[in-house]
Amino acid sequence: MHNNNKELTLSAPLSGPVLTLAKVPDPVFASGAMGDGIAIDPLNDTLHAPCAGVVVHVARTGHAVTLRADNGAELLLHLGLDTVELQGLGFSMLVKEGARVANGQPLLRYDLDKVAQQCKSLVSLLILTNSQDFQARPITLKSVKVGEPLLHIIRRQTSTAEVDIEFAGAEIVGHVCIAHRGGLHARPAALIRQTAQGFKSKSQLHFAGKSATCDSLIGLMGLAIGEQAEVQVSCQGPDAEAALQALLTALSTTLAEDSHAVAPPMIAQRNRPAEAGVLHGVCAAPGLVGGPLFRLNAISLPVDAGQHDPQQQRQVLDAALSQVRSEIDHTLAQAKKHKDSAEEAIFAAHLALLEDPALLDAASQSVDQGTAATHAWSQAIEAQCEVLQQTGSTLLAERANDLRDLKQRVLRVLLGDTWHYDVPAGAIVAAHELTPSDLLQLSQQGVAGLCMAEGGATSHVAILARGKGLPCMVALGSTLLDQQQGQPVVLDADGGRLELTPGTQRLTDVRQLQQQQQQRRAEQQTQAHTPALTTDGLCIEVAANVASSTEAADALANGADGVGLLRTEFLFVDRQTAPDEQEQHQAYQAVLDAMGDKSVIIRTIDVGGDKQLDYLPLPAEANPVLGLRGIRLAQVRPELLDQQLRALLHLRPLSRCRILLPMITEVDELLHIRQRLDALCTELGLAQRPELGVMIEVPAAALLAEQLAEHADFLSIGTNDLSQYTLAMDRDHAGLAARVDALHPALLRLIAQTCAGAAQHKRWVGVCGALASDPLATPVLIGLGVSELSVSPVQIGEIKDRVRHLDASECRRISQGLLKLSSASAVRHACHQHWPLS
Ligand code: PEP
Ligand code: MG
Repeated sequence: MHNNNKELTLSAPLSGPVLTLAKVPDPVFASGAMGDGIAIDPLNDTLHAPCAGVVVHVARTGHAVTLRADNGAELLLHLGLDTVELQGLGFSMLVKEGARVANGQPLLRYDLDKVAQQCKSLVSLLILTNSQDFQARPITLKSVKVGEPLLHIIRRQTSTAEVDIEFAGAEIVGHVCIAHRGGLHARPAALIRQTAQGFKSKSQLHFAGKSATCDSLIGLMGLAIGEQAEVQVSCQGPDAEAALQALLTALSTTLAEDSHAVAPPMIAQRNRPAEAGVLHGVCAAPGLVGGPLFRLNAISLPVDAGQHDPQQQRQVLDAALSQVRSEIDHTLAQAKKHKDSAEEAIFAAHLALLEDPALLDAASQSVDQGTAATHAWSQAIEAQCEVLQQTGSTLLAERANDLRDLKQRVLRVLLGDTWHYDVPAGAIVAAHELTPSDLLQLSQQGVAGLCMAEGGATSHVAILARGKGLPCMVALGSTLLDQQQGQPVVLDADGGRLELTPGTQRLTDVRQLQQQQQQRRAEQQTQAHTPALTTDGLCIEVAANVASSTEAADALANGADGVGLLRTEFLFVDRQTAPDEQEQHQAYQAVLDAMGDKSVIIRTIDVGGDKQLDYLPLPAEANPVLGLRGIRLAQVRPELLDQQLRALLHLRPLSRCRILLPMITEVDELLHIRQRLDALCTELGLAQRPELGVMIEVPAAALLAEQLAEHADFLSIGTNDLSQYTLAMDRDHAGLAARVDALHPALLRLIAQTCAGAAQHKRWVGVCGALASDPLATPVLIGLGVSELSVSPVQIGEIKDRVRHLDASECRRISQGLLKLSSASAVRHACHQHWPLS
């Protein structure tokens, strides 16, 4: 047993299930008013000493005893609830006041049956009566046997007078195994921090003798918790129980994005023989490219003379921090808009790092001592990088790159440096280490590849490079930085090599290979422009989901048969005032014009829920996703929808415009809009009516598909929301992301029912949710009766190709069987068996 002046481990005084105090059916004990502690529902008949100490009190009625441990902690051991009323009946005290007892020594025996029958409950307590000086931290909340470790007792650093009243009360503790791949690195740590911030209680993680507050991302990462490691979570405050449960769940649920964290197989290069004129590194994103080398240099600061005005420097730093914060906010909004979850998670972690108390405190302390804001910020970051690098974890050491990203960004603002690189398109960028925001800039400038002296294949910049298809190599060593600007090089990321002196022949060969690759893509593109027919001749329309006319033009170039979903809300969000009818009309007309002679499905505004508009304040809702969103908004703000419908009715040719209504749950909603549309057509003197469709994204709509199809011209299934509402799982919940799978058989049944309902009225059904872009789902959707798939523009060629290899009648036959399976993973497995992906 571990015993010193500060910390003491108590062993279980009884055998049986362990309970937190909050679960004890006694308001006084449960409130923690008697002190911190723990309870056991006993299965044995003897109470043992949880540690060595002196008996300082024995209850007259023999049901309780108090020990003083050698470190001064006083422990009340109380057998059963309201047992004082038994007046000693059934109890026999085995020790006397003043006696010294050994750990595990029997203290009191009782008649289990007699006491159990006569008292309210046998639940027994171990209470730390001088909790003002000591803290109790449970080791386990499972069943224990006498003598097993139960509780840590730690001397408090502060006196109770200093403890914020808000955080007084029992601290509760739980244990959990970390499920996150690679352990608690930045993104899972950001999720933990976000989870903890949802509660008033103070939460901490404890691991390997170290603790960190859940408020600090750096602190959490600094614990260097590996995958499958068991950690302790402690929460203290008014909602500690709920906070603990939420944190335990968050820690034990894998992030869907974790798959992005897995690097492609690294090329072993340590023991490779040196090749003249070649630098060896690690492949972070595959590819083979040639081009001129372009070196990017990091910002270096001049020596600081010191003695600056702290107040002024603090203002300067605060302003820079808030500018960077809003820049990252913007990046996040863009990532959300493009549904790029990897990018979103990375920059959400950056935002959390930027608010990290450890970082901000360190910077502000330096500023107080007269250091310039630039140097204070830079030093604070470097100190934290050091902490991460000393954890010995490669994954965490790589997170230092994210901190350096923030260093550079804030320094650029502080130094008034315009954040822009003039890198020629086709160049291969070389840097000490690139950051995620560098990468976003560079990829927009059309660079051909990236290489870094340092960095790792699991870094965020590597994840982004893979997502953007940019060949990228890391860990090439500092020689990289000695190379000439503009020197022609070959980046063979697959082979882990940077060729510094490629001959003309090699450059020509690489260029040829690049061209062949482009040619293959071009061939796919030409194929993409022909209709997609199954082997038995069924035509499946493959359209695109877009948010602007630029994306529409891209979609057409990629072979889209039309626009299957224009999310018009993107015209409304991220601005201070509402777009008027004319601006809306111009935006929609631009999309129509960009699509040649193809049809465009325009969805009416789908805000509310998590998409809020600054200029349209809606009442705060407890459950926004179940509140005023989609078409329901039109019921409270009818003028908004009228304005949008007018803008749409002015489109030419109107025959190419189809209108789609989001979040419909019953037929009356559709009939109401149809009437409104008719009235507006009459008002505008239009003989022609645009087609009107309904989104099927709520189970109610899928179940009423037949009734809806009677009055709608087409149905379009929004599998994103349909999954959320069918599975009762937030579609944006990072911890549940892997389980929000639209191939769940319950969803397939709703899709089948939608198609059957539509068929009764000879209406067509499309899918515009993310499931349409999943090639594994293509045969299932065709088999269930879907005839239009609206996918992300870059996937049009791939999905069309998939369609061309399928037999529709076989799809129908097999899909019926899939409806009977019991889970999404069973469906996925079956799909792989029947229709393997090439
Ligand atoms: C859907 O819910 O599947 C859908 C396409 O709509 P959004 O993703 O815009 O909610
Ligand atoms: Mg939706």
